[in-house]
Amino acid sequence: MALTGKVALVTGSTSGIGLGVARALAAEGVDLMLNGFGDPAAIETLRAGLATEFGVRVAYDGADLSKAAEVAALIERTEAQFGRLDILVNNAGIQFTAAIEEFPVEKWDAIIAINLSAVFHGMRAALPGMKARRWGRIINIASAHGLVASANKIAYVAAKHGVIGATKVAAIETANDGITVNAICPGWVLTPLVEKQLADRAAASGTDLDTEKTKLLQEKQPMIEFTTPAKIGALAVFLCSDAASTMTGASLSMDGGWVAQ
Ligand code: NAD
Repeated sequence: MALTGKVALVTGSTSGIGLGVARALAAEGVDLMLNGFGDPAAIETLRAGLATEFGVRVAYDGADLSKAAEVAALIERTEAQFGRLDILVNNAGIQFTAAIEEFPVEKWDAIIAINLSAVFHGMRAALPGMKARRWGRIINIASAHGLVASANKIAYVAAKHGVIGATKVAAIETANDGITVNAICPGWVLTPLVEKQLADRAAASGTDLDTEKTKLLQEKQPMIEFTTPAKIGALAVFLCSDAASTMTGASLSMDGGWVAQ
């Protein structure tokens, strides 16, 4: 396993896509710093389970990524605990939907802070170590909404477009430092973030979750199928591989054809 001994921090890895990416990296022998919110006992079970299943070192840090200082401190603590940080996966994210004129200002601030600013703060803190070791992989989990828009998602769409811009700048700045920086743009992935939207839609239209699942997919994707966290994890592993060493600044869609239209 070519990635054995590397150290990864996956933000927002207590759930959904982040957990899928963390599992895929652990399966390649990567030591992990987990991050995200949740029930402490459940997180400890998750942490210990990953360590046992894959035979890697796994730690957890509950830093709140809406705060710039906590993002920087999270990177510092990861380097202190493992001695290095080789792979940074900026994944933590939240969603809120409303028309612009009804969009709560505090939701705008929170989405921009967690979905966009934390990506900047994370890269800013992680790059010096990666440059010094002349090896690094940064993977920013953007979205189909980093490439195209939908109504009622002003903050999310603005943040994700920003993540793709930030990815390109970081890729250019690090192009000859042994570092690659890429964005993954998933379409619909069935995670708690989307399950909340499905529940809201079912309540609003008086239907059930299965009906809303199909409608949600049909609205956006030619392929009527959810992408899984494991598939996003497999793409992340590829981006960390030597085969992808000249791939940088890219925005890679895994979206059932969403943005091909
Ligand atoms: P999720 O809700 O399952 O997981 C989000 C994770 O982020 C959780 O671990 C949560 O605890 C963590 N988190 C939230 N706020 C945080 C904070 N302030 N500090 C630290 N951690 C925090 O969601 P998901 O669907 O797995 O989303 C993960 C990423 O993928 C997000 O950036 C999201 O925008 C993106 N994405 C999701 C989809 C989808 O269809 N689910 C599609 C495209 C992009």
